[in-house]
Amino acid sequence: MTRPKALITGASSGIGKVYAQKLAARGYDLVLVARDGARLEQLAAELAKAGAKSDVVVADLTQSADVTRVEQVLDRDSAITFFLNNAGIATVEPLLQTPVEVIERLVALNVTAATRLALAAGRAFVARKSGTIVNMASIVAFNPERFNGVYSGSKSFLMALSHAMTRELNENGVTIQTVLPGATRTEIWERAGTDVDTRLPAERIMDTDEMVDAALKGLELGERITIPSLPDANQLADAEAARLKLGPNLWAHPAERYR
Ligand code: NAP
Repeated sequence: MTRPKALITGASSGIGKVYAQKLAARGYDLVLVARDGARLEQLAAELAKAGAKSDVVVADLTQSADVTRVEQVLDRDSAITFFLNNAGIATVEPLLQTPVEVIERLVALNVTAATRLALAAGRAFVARKSGTIVNMASIVAFNPERFNGVYSGSKSFLMALSHAMTRELNENGVTIQTVLPGATRTEIWERAGTDVDTRLPAERIMDTDEMVDAALKGLELGERITIPSLPDANQLADAEAARLKLGPNLWAHPAERYR
């Protein structure tokens, strides 16, 4: 029997690596994408012991040509039924002190590459009439003032893209889930030059394993937006209902108070 395949960007560490382990255990073969080939090979060897075959794609997704190579894999490998759009970086400076180089790299990875790959997966899955795309956003998409605004903005962008993709692709048998983790204990913090354990109290930090378990459970439950830490799912439903309620009033001539 052929095993389904999941392509994961940012598979060399943190959330992406844990997804790879959990999807392998659920019967998936993997396409592992990141810059660090040695780490990906090591993960592939570990997953092989669990019976999963992995293709390793070494790619720097801030580089257009590398994004093109991953788009081609999504397009050509018809065994891929699951795309985890996960590679990302963060930055923690005060907004006005964000270096230009960081802004450009963050937008290239979190926005440009994430958009190109989401749409490439979307085109491939629509053509195959099935597939699941998981966009890894963040709770700061809802709460942008709590973090560096460039990072928050990149995650709000991904949230907006997910809403639009859901509207356009759902009818074609394609499922889009947006996952909004809160602070999760991964390397992203250290890479951004900070230590999550000194920055935040322990009760505000999730372990990667429990975050990914919750996200996969949310997908099983049919959620289109999953916020692993949110105790009451009705709060999210209310927020979504309030947002959609604005819809019919957003397109017209100026409102009375502006005349
Ligand atoms: P992480 O452990 O630092 O993992 C990030 C992954 O992205 C790594 O595999 C890294 O691999 C890859 N990556 C970084 N730059 C890349 C590039 N230029 N090209 C290709 N791959 C690149 O962090 P994480 O927390 O698991 O992050 C995964 C996602 O979760 C991100 O989108 C992040 O924004 C989101 N998220 C995280 C948290 C949190 O608190 N941890 C909260 C909300 C959302 P290489 O270095 O090998 O390339």
